[in-house]
Amino acid sequence: MPEHEIAIIGGGISGLSALHFIRLLKPEQDVHLYEAESRLGGTIGTDNIEGYSFDRGPNGFLDREPLTLQLAEELGLTDKLERAGENVSNRFILRDGKLRAVPMSPIKFMMADILPVMGRLRVMGEPFAKKRPDGIDESIYDFVERRIGRDAADYLVQPMVSGVYGGVASKLSLKSCFPIMREMENEYGSLFKAMISKAKKAKAKGKSGAGPSGPGGWLTSFEGGTETIIKRFEEKYINQITKQSRAVEITKHNNLYRIKMANGTIVEAKSLILALPANHAAEITCELSSKLTSALGSIPYAPIAVVCLGYNEKNIDHDLDGFGFLVPSKENIKILGSIWTSSIFKNRAPQGMVQLRTMVGGDGDHASAELSDNELLKLVTDDLDQIMNISGKPDIVKMYRWKYGIPQFLIGHSEVMNRIEDETKTLGNIFVTGNAYYGIGLNDCVKQSFKVASLV
Ligand SMILES: Cc1cc2nc3c(=O)[nH]c(=O)nc-3n(C[C@H](O)[C@H](O)[C@H](O)COP(=O)(O)OP(=O)(O)OC[C@H]3O[C@@H](n4cnc5c(N)ncnc54)[C@H](O)[C@@H]3O)c2cc1C
Repeated sequence: MPEHEIAIIGGGISGLSALHFIRLLKPEQDVHLYEAESRLGGTIGTDNIEGYSFDRGPNGFLDREPLTLQLAEELGLTDKLERAGENVSNRFILRDGKLRAVPMSPIKFMMADILPVMGRLRVMGEPFAKKRPDGIDESIYDFVERRIGRDAADYLVQPMVSGVYGGVASKLSLKSCFPIMREMENEYGSLFKAMISKAKKAKAKGKSGAGPSGPGGWLTSFEGGTETIIKRFEEKYINQITKQSRAVEITKHNNLYRIKMANGTIVEAKSLILALPANHAAEITCELSSKLTSALGSIPYAPIAVVCLGYNEKNIDHDLDGFGFLVPSKENIKILGSIWTSSIFKNRAPQGMVQLRTMVGGDGDHASAELSDNELLKLVTDDLDQIMNISGKPDIVKMYRWKYGIPQFLIGHSEVMNRIEDETKTLGNIFVTGNAYYGIGLNDCVKQSFKVASLV
């Protein structure tokens, strides 16, 4: 029976970066990663088909997290980092059936038609917004409505929340999804005041205060798509990884975690890192702790379908000069938004062709994510044809479905995290990492895995 000092279950970005950071911080420790599937990467993956490069899940990360850049460097991938083109800042929102540019400065915002005049004036009244009632875990929608008004909540923030979280702004917790917004309000009493103060401080330090696309950083991927990093992990850690090993049950015996695999193998480890989706982690820990299982199992997921289409550029009566567009739910259009992948990264479509990547489903529309392939394709092409003046059929279609796509940090998520933290501490030497806990993006996963690697 293999016995390790540290076992990691799950070979997505969270498990792989935990493995990397442990090797870096504790090279003397025997650490081994077990992955259920025959391929690593989890939601990360890239398919190269007929000159197109399709990302299955994430298509990039924001270059604001030093640990992700450090990871790329340590994996020898710095020269493979691919920054999105300058036009990535051109973003659009659908309003009254038309694509409208998202203004990037206060003056442009006041001139733009993205919100009605009263809606724009209401945004400018942000410093005078009502205070948050004490002691509540406020939803994103309530926070935004309170600070900048209902128009902005419906037409600027809800589409962003469904595009990023696949979520419904009135159900998600601001504290868990955008803690920085809450901190800015707590510290400065106003988001505008906070932004001005931060910009001044950054200027004094000689920095611009923001990445080229704002304080969020710049969208970045790897040459060849996101799978490039997964291949590099695999090459580097081939001896510390076993694929096709699905953990089915975890128990504890004499201070050792015992992991039963679906193929009958038993593995023991002094410390255990669960780097798998919370619902899978819940399933395999039920013999170990009902409290842990119940807390993990209470984190819901939204399903997402990603529909990648290749078109001849001549069939699209739009310059596609930008990142793409998001759809507010008030528009009564089924798609959540579409990313113009070949406009932002190189080599994602053959010469003369373009790639559009459209998201469907989310927590607000489970049914659409579950449509048959033909129905889903019809839904997407009908919407795109109308919004972007497309004629003719796509040259290629590739669909990816994520039934448990994006974890939802609902109101009360921080309480769930307290329960998970308390129970893992009680059990001892067991840790969780992944996108279901402290942040859903790749950067969040890397950051959480670094923390776990330092603690284990
Ligand atoms: C459609 C979509 C688009 C996204 N776009 C972006 C984006 O552009 N930018 C961004 O930053 N983030 C994006 N995300 C989020 C990002 O992809 C995830 O946060 C991240 O990839 C999660 O990584 P993970 O390792 O935590 O989990 P996963 O990727 O889910 O990996 C978990 C791994 O555990 C394995 N596993 C499961 N059960 C077991 C078991 N019992 N035994 C052994 N192994 C098991 C799985 O096979 C899998 O390999 C997107 C997500 C989706 C779904």
